[in-house]
Amino acid sequence: MTEPLETDYLVMGSGIAGLNFALLAAEHGRVVVCTKKRPNDTNTNWAQGGVAAVLASDDSFERHIDDTLVAGDGLCDRKTVELCVNDGPAQVQRLLDIGVRLARDPATGQLDLGREGAHTRHRVVHWEDVTGREIQRALIAAVASHPNITVLDGHIGIDLLSMAKYGGDPACFGAYVLDSKTGEVKTICARATVLATGGTGKVYIYTSNPDVATGDGIAMAYRIGAACGDLEFVQFHPTVLYHPHAGSFLISEALRGEGGILKNARGETFMDAVHPMKSLASRDIVARAIDNELKKSGADCVFLDMTHLDPPFVKSRFPNIYERCLSLGIDITKQPIPVVPAAHYMCGGVKADENGATTIKGLYAIGECAFTGLHGANRLASNSLLEGMVFSHRAAAAVREAPRIRPAQVAPWSYGQATDSNDAIVVTLNWDEIRRFMWSYVGIVRSDKRLERARRRIEILRDEIREYYIDFKVTSDLVELRNLALVAHLIIESARRRKESRGLHFTLDYPDKLPEARHSEIQLTDGPRG
Ligand SMILES: Cc1cc2nc3c(=O)[nH]c(=O)nc-3n(C[C@H](O)[C@H](O)[C@H](O)COP(=O)(O)OP(=O)(O)OC[C@H]3O[C@@H](n4cnc5c(N)ncnc54)[C@H](O)[C@@H]3O)c2cc1C
Repeated sequence: MTEPLETDYLVMGSGIAGLNFALLAAEHGRVVVCTKKRPNDTNTNWAQGGVAAVLASDDSFERHIDDTLVAGDGLCDRKTVELCVNDGPAQVQRLLDIGVRLARDPATGQLDLGREGAHTRHRVVHWEDVTGREIQRALIAAVASHPNITVLDGHIGIDLLSMAKYGGDPACFGAYVLDSKTGEVKTICARATVLATGGTGKVYIYTSNPDVATGDGIAMAYRIGAACGDLEFVQFHPTVLYHPHAGSFLISEALRGEGGILKNARGETFMDAVHPMKSLASRDIVARAIDNELKKSGADCVFLDMTHLDPPFVKSRFPNIYERCLSLGIDITKQPIPVVPAAHYMCGGVKADENGATTIKGLYAIGECAFTGLHGANRLASNSLLEGMVFSHRAAAAVREAPRIRPAQVAPWSYGQATDSNDAIVVTLNWDEIRRFMWSYVGIVRSDKRLERARRRIEILRDEIREYYIDFKVTSDLVELRNLALVAHLIIESARRRKESRGLHFTLDYPDKLPEARHSEIQLTDGPRG
């Protein structure tokens, strides 16, 4: 029997939250980072706009707090918001200390601050329009040279290890992890297990997220009984490039921040009639307005017009977007950019306190997979990289005292009677079906009828997937499909329970807000097994 691998801290995920945690925790313990593909296959790597922090002389913590609370539509936890906003400048300094390059004003040498939708001030530090890539680069380089950190790429967490299986309280002491290259399932034990698994965008057919965003951390935590919350609040980014060969390419909010104007196919500035902030209104309002515009007109897309802005400025401020669009035959200084909305960010997640601790002892959740109360019912742009930095920092301090809990003998992964699958088409078809009906029934505009349709379908599919999971050897595709289906179920359930429209959750049956804002929480006891 292979002995379990022992470490102090096991981290799932190599984005901003996972790697910053690893660097800080490695100062007082050994860290193993598992990441299911390559280390830079993360949402972090795709972030364009930047990191929000109060740095300008005309800005204040109170303003950033207010902007966050307004976007969150009554559901932000004020203490968490204050904690993140107040820590913003220190976290920007930390990024610089790690070696992240940030754009500066050539005249003053001060950090250049961009402005994004629903921010009332310029406060977004960035590196051109590829901020996430730059942060990811610097973090990977720093982690690679740290002797206390081992990065296992191509290793996907399957399930968390819980003392509940050994007759104790459900404390977490590590995870079963599949080495995708060899098919071997490793047992990794740790004093603290940290979920930094990112978002859930792949639950929807149209998303700005890369393939890794299948909500694995939320599914794993839910299966061992951790409380999750606010999962109905899926942020749809209003502007993803609409082009058959574009894949999922985001057209950053910063373009609207710098003066980009949304128009329909007839050239009408339809946002003028929707909100006083016009094209700069918050994402939920813009996404819904575009959805409405598309449904009304039957058009495939709307347009973001940058042609009235100074071309050299557009090219130098957005070099990556300019080049990408140009490669597809769109010169954004001369032609409006065709755009559509797409699933972008999960505001809810695994319930975590101010140190990232979940409701399960030994288990932490940080970054996008966590539900800290920062975003409430709607995330303010560029607050999530900040959240990743703040909570990885706090969790790294908190785990120092984590006791080692584990049974005397840890059961190895049971391969059972499982055989190699000869029916992989089941995975592909179920994957596709979930993502399509989630878009149609649990998307930007919801209703009781649509949610009920989605509920019925996900139950059938989850039964099928469960059977398949038992019969066949585990693969990374199957792990992801099982998680995707569970997360879809949790989003549907959470959406069904919210009998109001608030923030990102809009339903035709309850168009108004209830007087009292409440979080939704969901736990294993509330629904069918994972
Ligand atoms: C296109 C785009 C643009 C964005 N722009 C901005 C922006 O300008 N500003 C901002 O603040 N936010 C932005 N966001 C959001 C922000 O990028 C993310 O919220 C943030 O990067 C999440 O960081 P994370 O560390 O929590 O997760 P990620 O960076 O997504 O990392 C998750 C990691 O977990 C790994 N993983 C997942 N499941 C498993 C598993 N089962 N086992 C092992 N590893 C696993 C993944 O492989 C990956 O390494 C943007 C997002 C996108 C998609």
